[in-house]
Amino acid sequence: MEDTVLVVNCGSSSLKLALFDDQHRKLASALAERLGQKDAFARVEGREEIIPLDPGASHDQALNTLVAALRDQGLMASAPTAIGHRVVHGGETFREAVLLDDDVMDAIEDCAGLAPLHNPVNLSGIRATLAQFPEVPQTAVFDTAFHQTLPKRAFLYALPEAWYRDWGIRRYGFHGTSHAFMAAEAARLLGKTPATTSIISAHLGNGCSITAIRDGISVDTSMGLTPLEGLVMGTRSGDVDPGLFDFLRSKGIAADEVHRVLNQESGLLGLSGQTNDMRSLCELADHGHEPSQTAIDVFCFRLARYVGAMMASLSQLDALVFTGGIGENSARIRAETINHLKLIGFELSHDLNKHHGEFSGRRVESPDSRFPVLVIPTNEELVIAREASRLAGTAALG
Ligand code: ADP
Repeated sequence: MEDTVLVVNCGSSSLKLALFDDQHRKLASALAERLGQKDAFARVEGREEIIPLDPGASHDQALNTLVAALRDQGLMASAPTAIGHRVVHGGETFREAVLLDDDVMDAIEDCAGLAPLHNPVNLSGIRATLAQFPEVPQTAVFDTAFHQTLPKRAFLYALPEAWYRDWGIRRYGFHGTSHAFMAAEAARLLGKTPATTSIISAHLGNGCSITAIRDGISVDTSMGLTPLEGLVMGTRSGDVDPGLFDFLRSKGIAADEVHRVLNQESGLLGLSGQTNDMRSLCELADHGHEPSQTAIDVFCFRLARYVGAMMASLSQLDALVFTGGIGENSARIRAETINHLKLIGFELSHDLNKHHGEFSGRRVESPDSRFPVLVIPTNEELVIAREASRLAGTAALG
């Protein structure tokens, strides 16, 4: 019987499963979307069939349906040998991935106040998977863990110290699994070891964040207490002046409404008034839709500013790395961003930057560029699968 690893990723209204073999090659994946809504559905990747779920289906029901579908279709012949869960917030408790037990689950629950949309659904995925596979060692991999190496000067806000001491208000950072993967992959591409490689890693998907990694360790990052801070994102504003809460209160808009707009109706969607999808925005801009071009301009300029800011944490730079749906696929966004960074010495090769196709990572800078610029596809599921196998191995030995 073959060893397999199941990766479980619960979002606020979605659940994704990925199954890997013992060489960490992906065997199958399946997902459920619109959970909690009336048109919830599930499907197995590569199959046409849409599996309807009960209206308002929970993560629990979705997990059971997806596992049954993988089994029915012969994609999961036996129980996995290890299971890895993505958990968004590990607070200051978790500096690395851990095997799940009751204490760990309590600690994840304790962090829920910091990620109310994510940690509770991560936990419901964990509980449902434990019920299905009670004998299988399960691992939690945290989005925040990689950033627990941030020095105080980078993680503290200039707020009353008691707010940090009593309530844990500080910068945590997110997308840690993706940034950690970039650090390892960039080192591999550059022929170096991760422990001697320093990069700036820009993860640009629906959520966007940028991290300074010095000798393999996260030393600064753009997301903060929550994943709202920093870069312009699909629907999230990134940095704003917190004074706007008081100003908008004077206009009759309550804080929770401002919070909702900053998270759900801002970013590329807010600026363009059309869409949070970068590919569509580029098409709209090409057809002369000015607000879409403005959204792209603000996105790239903010990103370039942050590249400059991240350099304050490094003493050498081996590469600037682009990843995520936008970072991997949009030559235009890479070019517009790098255009702001000529003074520092970044320069792209027009041809290498435009090149498309299957790749596991490539260089796109011009020969005159002071620093390499890399495009590397992220693979957070693979990182989670590796961690789950590693810890299941230690559990077996223990
Ligand atoms: P998520 O954060 O949900 O995992 P992804 O990493 O898949 O998101 O990134 C989604 C974003 O990538 C969308 O804005 C999408 O338009 C963008 N994207 C994908 N392909 C392209 C492309 N060829 N050009 C521009 N943007 C692209």
